[in-house]
Amino acid sequence: MNYETFFRKQLDSLHKEGRYRVFADLERQAGAFPRATHHQGRGGGTQPVTVWCSNDYLGMGQHPVVLAAMHEALDRCGAGAGGTRNIAGTNHYHVMLEHELADLHQKEAALLFNSGYMSNWATLSTIAGKLPGCVIFSDAKNHASMIEGIRHSGAERRIFRHNDVADLARQLGEYGPAVPKLVAFESVYSMDGDISPIADICDVADAHGAMTYLDEVHAVGLYGPRGGGIADREGLSHRLTVIEGTLAKGFGVIGGYIAGSAAMCDFVRSYASGFIFTTALPPAIAAGAIASIRHLKTSEAERAGHRDRVARLRRRLTDEGVPHMENPSHIVPVMVGDPVQCKQISDTLLDRYGIYVQPINYPTVARGTERLRITPSPLHTDADIEHLVASLSAIWSQLSLKRAA
Ligand SMILES: *Cc1c(COP(=O)(O)O)cnc(C)c1O
Repeated sequence: MNYETFFRKQLDSLHKEGRYRVFADLERQAGAFPRATHHQGRGGGTQPVTVWCSNDYLGMGQHPVVLAAMHEALDRCGAGAGGTRNIAGTNHYHVMLEHELADLHQKEAALLFNSGYMSNWATLSTIAGKLPGCVIFSDAKNHASMIEGIRHSGAERRIFRHNDVADLARQLGEYGPAVPKLVAFESVYSMDGDISPIADICDVADAHGAMTYLDEVHAVGLYGPRGGGIADREGLSHRLTVIEGTLAKGFGVIGGYIAGSAAMCDFVRSYASGFIFTTALPPAIAAGAIASIRHLKTSEAERAGHRDRVARLRRRLTDEGVPHMENPSHIVPVMVGDPVQCKQISDTLLDRYGIYVQPINYPTVARGTERLRITPSPLHTDADIEHLVASLSAIWSQLSLKRAA
């Protein structure tokens, strides 16, 4: 077999469908968020761009308190952690970070992972894999990391319609009270920006004796009086068995975690391969995350600024008739509905207007719902918003795209 031919053919099919992924080569500029320098490929030059699709939602990745904490920890402890958590890798910063996270979610304990992906994958596969006869009820729009964790558990999986509590109740009802159950879902869904009915899902789960697992990755730092997410905002943290989050998006650093009871966290710590057999995060990373969480526990300025920017962008898009999906979160999906056009708009924004928004195509979203997923931050100015909206409007005219009423 010619393996190279196989690889190339697979790539050709992606090109033909218009969903071959091209990474923008960016150099972020600390202190100038959301500006970056775009490297235009080998032999090409550089171009200043404004980033409009970062998941560093609040710009915390460049916040002075985060950078100062990281510099200090780097100078005190050095670069790497030096081992797995079990073998020489547990640094005092990791322990403090887990306390900070438990407090953030008002839980007994928290457990740190190297990414949010790993925390979902390892926790779901371990809980459902070790608990005999466990059935997982998974929202149809759950993130790939949850799907992979569930698959790896080998447990029976039932998919309920997205945010459909009645469908969940019906499916839970097919199993007797003695069957162990876990309901896995998210708070803010990243592509449509819709928010799940957490209280209703917890009610149904309780009625059927099911555990609840909530991914708050797109909400932590951003919602709730202390940045604990949607469950925090709605006073529901105590009702969830597991709250999972990331340190990489709203908190601006890297890493993932779960929070819950002391026994649950200790169980995952003791059995999850994806926790045990990997080197711990560098201490400086943990220090930066602690600083970011602490800052957002008491500072409302970033969240207020964020809400204001999101509202302004939506209003201006509506004024210009650029079609965008309404939702109750900070994610602004500008709908295109065609993968080739979506890529073309994104390329034009970058090349002609110095605006970077990555096209979102299948399989990240369903075919026919291709979009530009725009994420305003508190640091995008009025002028940034005007430039983005004017550029989109000009492209809409050039390509004769349909405007919203
Ligand atoms: C990004 C994401 C993750 C993974 O988090 P990372 O820290 O980036 O690995 C998990 N769940 C959802 C819903 C996500 O969007």
